[in-house]
Amino acid sequence: MLRLVRAIFTNQRSAKMAQPGEKVWIDGELVDWNSPEAKIHLVTATLHYGRGVFEGIRFYAAKNKKAIFRLADHVGRLFASASLENLKIPYTEVGLQDAIIQTVAANNFDAGYIRPLIFVGSGELGLRAKNGIVHAAILVVPWGAYHGEDALRKGIRLMTSSFVRTQNMLPKSKACGNYILSYRALDEARARDFDDALLLDECGLVAEASTSNIFIVKGGKLITPPLSSPILAGITRDTIITVARDYGRKAYEREISPRKLRRADECFLCGTAAEITPVREIDGLIFGPGTTGEITGYLQWAYREIVSGRNSRYNHWLTYV
Ligand code: PMP
Repeated sequence: MLRLVRAIFTNQRSAKMAQPGEKVWIDGELVDWNSPEAKIHLVTATLHYGRGVFEGIRFYAAKNKKAIFRLADHVGRLFASASLENLKIPYTEVGLQDAIIQTVAANNFDAGYIRPLIFVGSGELGLRAKNGIVHAAILVVPWGAYHGEDALRKGIRLMTSSFVRTQNMLPKSKACGNYILSYRALDEARARDFDDALLLDECGLVAEASTSNIFIVKGGKLITPPLSSPILAGITRDTIITVARDYGRKAYEREISPRKLRRADECFLCGTAAEITPVREIDGLIFGPGTTGEITGYLQWAYREIVSGRNSRYNHWLTYV
C-alpha cells in the first residue's frame, strides 16, 4: 500500500508534493502510515488490472476548524463509480463519510487532500478469479496548489493531446484503470514543456484536461462541455455552474469546438486538485491578457470564500471536523 500511495503522490506535477499523512484508514481501522496493515499483497487485482475506484476530496482551514468540501457529493460519486465498475463497496455512504471525517481528524494538518480508494485485494491471478475481497482505504495528505501557486496567478499552458477521451472507458467513473489515459496525456504534454493536456473526444470536440474539467468565457458567459461528452462529472464544475447561476451569471453546458476555444476571451481548468486554474495559452496561442482573466479571477476569489467558510450561502457544502 505504501508503495502504491507513494507512486500516486510522487508522480504528479506539483513541486509541493504531499508528505505522507500520519494515519491511514483501512477496512474500518486507523493505522500508522508505515504499518504492515497499510501495505498490500502483490496478488492484488487492482494492481494488475486497474479494477478499483477512487475519489479526490479537499479539506480547508475554515473558522479555526477543518472543513471538508462537498463530502457527501464525493462519496456519492465514489459509489456511482463503483456501481459502473460493478464493484460492491462493503460500507454505506454514511459509514464511509464518517470514516473520512475520522481520518481527517486523526491527521495533524489544517488543510489537505483526501484519497478514498476502493481496491480488490489478494485472491487468485486472472480476470476470472472469484475470491477478490473489496477493500476500502482512506489516505490524507497535505497538498498545496496542484500546478503551483504561480499558476493560480499567471495561468498554465495547455497542449492539445494526441490521446482521445472516449465513451468506451466509462468516463463518468473515477476508475483506477482510466487514469492510464490521463497519465499518458500528461506525460506527452510535459515532454513538450506544457503544463497539462487538453483531450478532445472522438468527434474532435473539447472534452477535458488530464484531471480537470474545462470552461471558457465568451462575452461574459461561461461555457463548459455537457455531461453527454466523455468527461468526468466534476464536482468543481458543478460548483462553478451553481455559483455562477446563483449570482446571475449565465453558465451553459454546450459543445466546444477547438475553433470556439481559440476564440474564447478566457479559459480555465477546474477540479478538486486544480481548483480554478487559469489557462493562459493553448498550443502556443495566448488568450487576451495572457494571464488570469477578469471573470476567472473573480471565480477564484468566490471559490476561496466558499471553501474557507466565508460565504454562508454555501455552508451546506462544508463538513466541519
Ligand atoms: N476530470 C477528471 C478526469 C478528473 O480526474 C477530475 C478530478 N477528479 C476532474 C475532471 C474534476 O473533478 P472534480 O471537480 O470532482 O475534482
